[in-house]
Amino acid sequence: MGAGKIIAYIVAAILIFFGVLFIWGAFSPQGEVGWILIGAISAGIGLVLIYFASRKSAAPSGDANNVTLKIDLPGNVSLDTMKCKSCGGTLSSENIHMVAGAPVVTCPYCKTTYQLTEDPKW
Ligand SMILES: [Zn+2]
Repeated sequence: MGAGKIIAYIVAAILIFFGVLFIWGAFSPQGEVGWILIGAISAGIGLVLIYFASRKSAAPSGDANNVTLKIDLPGNVSLDTMKCKSCGGTLSSENIHMVAGAPVVTCPYCKTTYQLTEDPKW
């Protein structure tokens, strides 16, 4: 889990390093104006990588968790660990209602209503 973030930071550092080198080189006697653009793009990608890598750690209940929840949901569903797909709030059995034979979750925190993919056992 942390390895991907470390790789993202290393790649970002390399991109920014070469980006700065290109911009710097553009001002040297044998430099070309186009290098500024290449350097800016390279450094820009690096900054975007850092932004996404740091955002992931800041919000652990973000997109990554929603994907895991969706995969884990069919079969045994532990209500203790059930979380709202949109705000990450903890849900209880009182937030789940049967609508037309399908379990529908209504989040008490953000008022989002959505259907569970499979009938949980309880
Ligand atoms: Zn919610």
